[in-house]
Amino acid sequence: KAEADNDTDDGDRKIGGVRVSSPGRVVYPDAKLTKSAVAEHYATVADRMLSHAADRPLSLLRCPDGISGECFFQKHAGKGFPGGVRTLTLREKDGEAAEYMYVSSPEGLIGAAQMGTLEFHLWGARRDRIDRPDRMIFDLDPDESLSFADVKRAAEDVRDGLETCGLDCAPMVTGGKGVHVIVPLRRVSSWDTVKVFAKTFATVLSDRHPDRYIATMSKAKRKGKVFIDWLRNERGATAVAPYSLRARPGAAVAVPVTWEELDTLDRADGFHVGDMEGRLAAPCPLDTPKARGIGTEIVAALEDWSKR
Ligand code: ATP
Ligand code: MN
Ligand code: MN
Repeated sequence: KAEADNDTDDGDRKIGGVRVSSPGRVVYPDAKLTKSAVAEHYATVADRMLSHAADRPLSLLRCPDGISGECFFQKHAGKGFPGGVRTLTLREKDGEAAEYMYVSSPEGLIGAAQMGTLEFHLWGARRDRIDRPDRMIFDLDPDESLSFADVKRAAEDVRDGLETCGLDCAPMVTGGKGVHVIVPLRRVSSWDTVKVFAKTFATVLSDRHPDRYIATMSKAKRKGKVFIDWLRNERGATAVAPYSLRARPGAAVAVPVTWEELDTLDRADGFHVGDMEGRLAAPCPLDTPKARGIGTEIVAALEDWSKR
C-alpha cells in the first residue's frame, strides 16, 4: 500500500517530507487519533493554515504523551525541533531579548507535530512588523450555564457593533466552547491603540447589556454571562490558530465560518479532521475581499486623527 512507502526502516514515517517518530502512538484515546493522524491533519491544512499562521510568533501546546498525559505551553524556542520550526528574537516586556518560534512552511507545522504539538497559538502581528498588529480578536467565553445560542447572539452583537464602527469581521468556532470574532486590521496602529479600542468596545457592550455580557476577567461575576475577552489584543498575547486541533477530548478543530453558517451551528466543537477536505474546497471565510481590512477602520481613523 502507498503508505508503506513512507515507512522508514526504524519505524518512523515520512509525512510531508518530515520524519515522524512513533507514528502509531495514540494521542486522542477517545477519538482514536494517532500521532501520524495529527501530523497528516497539519499536512492537509498546511497551505490554508499558513495563510493565517505564517511568520507570526507562536506558542505551542505540546502533549508528548497525548491528551491524557501532561501538556504544556511552550512560548520560547527549545532544543530538538526540526528545521521547519524557525526562531526569531523578540524583546520581552522587561526589555530582555528572548527567542521565539515561527513557521512559514508545511514542514514547520508538521515538524512541530513531530515534537508533540497539538495546538498552535498565534500572536496578532507578523514578524516583519511586530509592533503593528494586523488583527483584533474578541474571544467570547460563555459561563458554563449558557447555551451555544447565547454565544452566537454575543458574536452577532459584537459584529453589529464593529460594523457600526466601520470594521469588518469574521467568526471562528474555537473547537472548545466559544467563538472568536476576528477583525483584520491594516498594520497602522500600535498595540496600545488596538488594546484600548478592544477594551472600550467590550466595556461599552457590557454596559449596554449588563445581564448578558461582562468585560472583566472575574469568574465570580461571570455567572450566566458571556465574558468578552479583549485581552487577546496585547503584545505577547495569543489566540488559537485557525485550523488548529484542540488538545481536548473529541479532537475538534478551530474553524473559521461565515456568519450565515455560524447561524446554523449548534456547537463550537463540531468540526474534526475528517471535515477538512470539504472546508478546503471553499474559500476561507477569514479571507474574503471584504474581510481584508478594506474600508474605514476606526482604529486607523483614530490614528490618522491623532496625527493631525
Ligand atoms: P474556548 O472557546 O473553549 O474558550 P479558547 O481557545 O478561546 O477556547 P480560552 O481559554 O478562552 O480558550 O483562551 C483564549 C486564548 O488565550 C487561547 O486560544 C490561547 O491562545 C490563550 N491562552 C489561554 N490560556 C493560556 C495559557 N495557559 N498559556 C498561554 N496561552 C493561553
Ligand atoms: Mn475563549
Ligand atoms: Mn478567553
